[in-house]
Amino acid sequence: MLSVGAVNQASAQETKVRWFGHATFSITTPRGKVLLIDPWLTNPSNPEAKDGKDPLAAAPKVDYLLVTHGHRDHVGDAVEIARKTGAVLVSNPELAGNLVKLAGFPAKQAATDAVMGIGGEILLADGEVTVAMTPAVHSSSVFNPKAGPTEAERAYGGNPAGFVIMIKGGPTIYHSGDTAYFRDMETVGEQYRVDLALLNIGGHFGMEPRMAARAAQSVRARLAVPQHYATFPGIAQNADEFAAELKRLKIPFYEMKPGETIIFRGSQMIRK
Ligand SMILES: [Zn+2]
Repeated sequence: MLSVGAVNQASAQETKVRWFGHATFSITTPRGKVLLIDPWLTNPSNPEAKDGKDPLAAAPKVDYLLVTHGHRDHVGDAVEIARKTGAVLVSNPELAGNLVKLAGFPAKQAATDAVMGIGGEILLADGEVTVAMTPAVHSSSVFNPKAGPTEAERAYGGNPAGFVIMIKGGPTIYHSGDTAYFRDMETVGEQYRVDLALLNIGGHFGMEPRMAARAAQSVRARLAVPQHYATFPGIAQNADEFAAELKRLKIPFYEMKPGETIIFRGSQMIRK
């Protein structure tokens, strides 16, 4: 297992946010805890999954797996990562239950008080991290590997969600999950100081780039980063339209490359 080791002085107050492509991000807190959101590490955009490489071969350090909803491109490799790392699942109870029952997610790691519902906030990592679950307008179902003539292809996955992740001494990060634009995103902006908004811009199954820019405005993003695009056919293949619309709205934008890490000191991005 890859260990973070001693946290040195220089990095003690740094929060690292890494994009693996699609909706998959890791957040490493100043104290070295690792949260992995929508953990599809084997997605085709992840440089660690290219040229026959297996991104799961070396088990990463993961403390918490946050899953917004049950679709395959968001549950991703959650089961294998959970088995390798012992990471605790943060999701709604129906999704947690069906991931255990149908996909073999380790039961103990899906039955903690990190199972939560929309509107709730929980403390993780001895209080260093607060996670709020926010609404998303989408659907959520778990693919059933035992599907057949008598078993449905999909099982209930609870309500789809987004997350607001508040890091003590670090940024507050909004991950939209998969969602349409909805006006109550303004409530997210009123209730939380969103330093970084990770917004799905791919269209087709969720927000079109133009509406994703409106979402950035509604949550009052201090920095908007696009996700959920250029992964497979049918969704936007670049972030140009999103960037142009944000420019018009005067909202700071940064386009991460898959595999890239950005670093925050306090709530400010200091290094890309
Ligand atoms: Zn998706």
